[in-house]
Amino acid sequence: MDNERTTGTLKSIGPSSHKPLPKLSPAVVGEVERLLGGRTRDIRLDGELARLFRERSWPQAAKIIRAWMFWVIVLDILTLGLNAILLPTETVASMLLPASILPPAALFTAIGFRKPHAFWLRGLLVLSGVFLILLSVALVGVNTGGEFYERHLTIMLFVAVTAIVIFPVPLGWAITIGGSALGIYLTFQLRNPGIEVGSALAGTLFFASGVVATVEARRTATILAHKTFLLELRDRSRLSDLTEINARLELLARTDPLTGVANRRSMMETLNRFWNEDIERTGDAAMLMCDVDDFKNLNDNLGHAEGDRCLVKIAGIIQSCMKDETDQVARFGGEEFLVFLPGCDEEQARMVAEKIRSRVEAASLPNPTSRVMAFVTVSIGLATLTRAGERVPAELLQRQADAALYVAKKSGRNCVMAYTPESQARA
Ligand code: GH3
Ligand code: MG
Ligand code: MG
Repeated sequence: MDNERTTGTLKSIGPSSHKPLPKLSPAVVGEVERLLGGRTRDIRLDGELARLFRERSWPQAAKIIRAWMFWVIVLDILTLGLNAILLPTETVASMLLPASILPPAALFTAIGFRKPHAFWLRGLLVLSGVFLILLSVALVGVNTGGEFYERHLTIMLFVAVTAIVIFPVPLGWAITIGGSALGIYLTFQLRNPGIEVGSALAGTLFFASGVVATVEARRTATILAHKTFLLELRDRSRLSDLTEINARLELLARTDPLTGVANRRSMMETLNRFWNEDIERTGDAAMLMCDVDDFKNLNDNLGHAEGDRCLVKIAGIIQSCMKDETDQVARFGGEEFLVFLPGCDEEQARMVAEKIRSRVEAASLPNPTSRVMAFVTVSIGLATLTRAGERVPAELLQRQADAALYVAKKSGRNCVMAYTPESQARA
């Protein structure tokens, strides 16, 4: 028997560590492609896509809203402090009560945005928070009267506009903020003793056009954010497809196409890994070299196709004799299978080998002109790492299993032979 052919290189790459990305459903992928195929301005996210977008944009949106709320509180307190220095005490006193609505409203909203509550609750939180803040700013002016009346209504509109521009929220929410601000403005201006109704309406209309322009800008920004998100989903989906194809190719590259068990390359990787990483910990290990007896005769008599079917069955039988998933069976050559049993001593390995041999025999697969019997049999050579920590290279162990197989063949086939130094001499 040619021992050289079993000493294939043990250099190989380690196991793949591809982490599969969460997969998008085909319906979502289809919708992404449809939306990206159309005009940007027509992009609308519904259903699952809308949910994914909300999930994706939530951390950033929450951060922006919380920061805005924080700065509104700071400005409210700063303004009040400045007014306390610059304005008469009674003016500041009339500002105090309405101004005190703002900090708790903003704080409550900011705290609410620390956790991703249900979408409707987020909407309720931010809209009621902003409404109370706008009302607070407006009431500061209304309560103080005089020059402060209209000034604070204008400041209130400015506050609303910053919220619309900055908050990455759905269009409906932005419209509600703009509508609330204009509603508050109109309501109080109609009651402003310093101006006529016509002037109140004209002022509202003027500011309404500004608010509409801002809401429109928000709509454009939202559509662009949706488009960026769709492009990201498309990239993710393509990457996930590629990862899947890669994993399938990698599996194919490690599998014997006929029998479905590992191929020689895969076995080399297993051995390499074991010898580099696990040998100290596991200590024992055994190898079985299994070879079908008189297989050439089977091919010659029953045909190559029947020979192939027989190899598939034998691979299945060997696989069925493995004790756990760390054991590996590989088709090593034409009708040779190499079995690697990490953590197995000679006694245990002999039991596995005997099980394989007897199950193959019991399967009664025909091999009419075999020199052993009229059925398919296998001969098995066995080699073990005898002492824990003994640095016998994998190639040597494999050669020893091969030498033992040679002795098994010489001893009449359909038997298991363990390696001894004499086997080496005979091989
Ligand atoms: P021994 O008991 O000494 O092992 O005898 P053998 O006839 O099994 O050994 P030999 O090495 O002379 O022949 C092996 C045969 O295995 C020769 C080859 O045609 C056959 N073979 C190798 N690969 C395949 C395969 O993929 N399919 C089939 N059907 N036959 C194969
Ligand atoms: Mg052979
Ligand atoms: Mg053979």
